[in-house]
Amino acid sequence: MRLRDLRAELVKRKTWNEEGQQREGFVAVASIAEADGLFFLCPKCFEMNGGEVGTHRVLCWFVGKVPDDVDPKPGRWIPAGTGIDDITFVGPAAASVLLTSGCNWHGFVRNGDAS
Ligand SMILES: [Zn+2]
Repeated sequence: MRLRDLRAELVKRKTWNEEGQQREGFVAVASIAEADGLFFLCPKCFEMNGGEVGTHRVLCWFVGKVPDDVDPKPGRWIPAGTGIDDITFVGPAAASVLLTSGCNWHGFVRNGDAS
C-alpha cells in the first residue's frame, strides 16, 4: 500500500520542558535528511478497517537519529530515497518492520510502499 495513502509523514523528534516535566513529541518535516523517523497508518489495520478510522499508526525511528532508549524501541531503520514517494528501509540492520504488540504487523517499507 502506498505510504501516501497511509498518510505517511517524515517526522523530527521534539522534546521540551513543561512545568518541570520532560515531554516528547515530533513534528512533520519536508525531507529525509531532516527527519528522525517515518510515521504512517498501519497497512494491515488500514486494510482490515477499510480506512483510517480505528487504525493505529506506526512510528519507525532512523538509525543514529534518536537515542536507543526512546520509544518505540528497539527497532531503528536506515532510510534511503528522496522522500515519501520512494523511501526504502535498507540493511545491514533489520530492514523489515515487526510490531511486537497489537496487530503484530510484519512488513517492509520499499520504494514508497508499506506491505
Ligand atoms: Zn496494525
